[in-house]
Amino acid sequence: MAQKILIVEDNDNNRSLFQDILRFYDYDVSVAIDGEEGVALARELLPDLILMDIQMPGMDGMAAGQILKRDPLTCNLKIIALTSFAMQGDEQKFLAAGFDDYLSKPVNTRELPGRVKEWLTAEGLS
Ligand SMILES: [Mg+2]
Repeated sequence: MAQKILIVEDNDNNRSLFQDILRFYDYDVSVAIDGEEGVALARELLPDLILMDIQMPGMDGMAAGQILKRDPLTCNLKIIALTSFAMQGDEQKFLAAGFDDYLSKPVNTRELPGRVKEWLTAEGLS
């Protein structure tokens, strides 16, 4: 069965790009456009990996990630923060908030599949 990845990203172009790349690698990809939808879908799907944009209107990625990490149902889900250039140096803040890792934007699309595979494999070993 394909591993499930949830992309939470408000930018249409980024969302489509990540989705296309990961579907090409046969992952079962779902998408959400803001934190609220992301939290709802994460609870429903319990994905193997969540890529969570931080800057989103409404509920942002930081708030959504913290809700998921504090909920016993979803606290073990692996969540990677997608951080912007402006957040450089703030990465520790995301790890402290419970995110498992972070990926700086612009995301290197050649690197993305390899990183995703690493995270999914790491999850399998833990
Ligand atoms: Mg954004």
